[in-house]
Amino acid sequence: MSRTPDFITVSPHDSVVNSLALDPTDPGNAAPEYRDLRPSRFNVQTTTQDGWLLLWNTYTGNMNAFRPEQRPRVLDLLAQEGVAGQVAGKFGQYLEDRGFLIPSDADEVRRVRYEFGKENYRTDILELILLPSEDCNFRCTYCYEDFRRGTMKPEVRDSVKKLVESRIKNINELTVGWFGGEPLYGLKAIEDLAPFLAEICEREGVDYFSHMTTNAYLLTDEVFEKLLSWKITDYQITLDGLPEHHNQHRPRRDGEGTFDVIFQNLASMSRREEDFSTVIRVNFDQTNVEGFDEFLKLLESEFKDDDRFTISFHAVGRWGGDNDANLDVCGKNEAHSVRMRFKAAARALGLKVTSGWQPGAGVGSQVCYAVRPYNFIVGAHGDLMKCTIDLDKKDRNMVGKLLPDGTLDLNLDKMSKWTEPAFESDTGCQSCHMLPACQGVHCPQIRMDHDKAPCPSIRRTAKEEMADYFQAKQASADGTEPLGRKDEPVGWISKASE
Ligand code: SF4
Ligand code: SF4
Repeated sequence: MSRTPDFITVSPHDSVVNSLALDPTDPGNAAPEYRDLRPSRFNVQTTTQDGWLLLWNTYTGNMNAFRPEQRPRVLDLLAQEGVAGQVAGKFGQYLEDRGFLIPSDADEVRRVRYEFGKENYRTDILELILLPSEDCNFRCTYCYEDFRRGTMKPEVRDSVKKLVESRIKNINELTVGWFGGEPLYGLKAIEDLAPFLAEICEREGVDYFSHMTTNAYLLTDEVFEKLLSWKITDYQITLDGLPEHHNQHRPRRDGEGTFDVIFQNLASMSRREEDFSTVIRVNFDQTNVEGFDEFLKLLESEFKDDDRFTISFHAVGRWGGDNDANLDVCGKNEAHSVRMRFKAAARALGLKVTSGWQPGAGVGSQVCYAVRPYNFIVGAHGDLMKCTIDLDKKDRNMVGKLLPDGTLDLNLDKMSKWTEPAFESDTGCQSCHMLPACQGVHCPQIRMDHDKAPCPSIRRTAKEEMADYFQAKQASADGTEPLGRKDEPVGWISKASE
């Protein structure tokens, strides 16, 4: 006699009869094996002079180089009309894994919306940009700051400690940037706060990252040793060309030159054994590029083949200082070609240079820190700000006050202006291939001031930068097997390995 299954105590899905019926080997129940694919509209592609196809996806951050003989196959698969999954084969599978092909029904703007929310509403992270001194011992010609305040008051330092103490149990990551004015002008505040921050993170198992933007005039060996012991391991230091040019751009507040002291301090950093990283920022305008070849040789003499030092070229801009009208700034195109020329020259000398583009430049990588609700500048008097260019010059940037008990008294209207997902109301951004990386908020300040999309320069220069990066990689390969193994179906750079 057959027994009726007892569906009161056993779900029909779990009954022996039904589980047999739902056997996945039964062709009727098998999941569809193939999906239709189409190219992601966040792909950027270019072909090098020797025929390699370079692909970058601004969402996944993946970049690949395909050999000239692979290029036609890849281009076929990336044709706008899309491709049926079953004909895509292993190339297609690979391209899908890397994000260059996506399911044909994917909504890519919705994916970006999800990523924006996921990052912006994190509660497991705190980022502070501390101003130990709002005053500075230099008076650079292009500076936009007004030096209205001095060093960070002891009561503000106490409030910073209380803020961190109150958050430390709930965060996994604390990032602290030391900025100014000139932060080392406020060494007392750093001596008070930096060891405290390093220790509390160590004790509580919180990841701690600390960096400093300094003119390095006061960065003696003794001071540097202290900073390293407090885990400040990442630096940005500016040198603006040969001594005669640099000293014109970056004099002390009494008018004296600063090149020799900074260069000496950098050189003694390079003689140390510890691990740290320093970007040597080189600002250029019409007045100082002429001597750059000689200047690069000077850098070569100290920093060649030292991976801890990276050279970064930046065009001087009219950043809002009193002297803006007198600056001999370069035009956009000129600045770009100067930058590319000196990057190549520096590389040829064995110096490491920053790349405007790198593998891994994916979702959120071009978003300004001011957009993040967990990122605050803390001024010397406890003012909370968002943008390091606006600082206290614009009321919109004074988003609140750090209270004595360590709580943040925030103006929600100002906060929400800085942190909004601006791409939502910008149809140009929504149809832009850079949307994942930039999210329409590369620079909210530009959007507020000029009511236009603040596109990062990489939007314009991506193809050239990709080719430049690829060329540098090729040059640094050992020459026997340029890049990637010949038996690999595709590939060269993967995000994970970079
Ligand atoms: S908002 Fe713009 S100017 Fe201000 S910190 Fe961000 S990128 Fe810089
Ligand atoms: S700001 Fe410019 S680069 Fe960024 S998403 Fe909008 S249009 Fe694209």
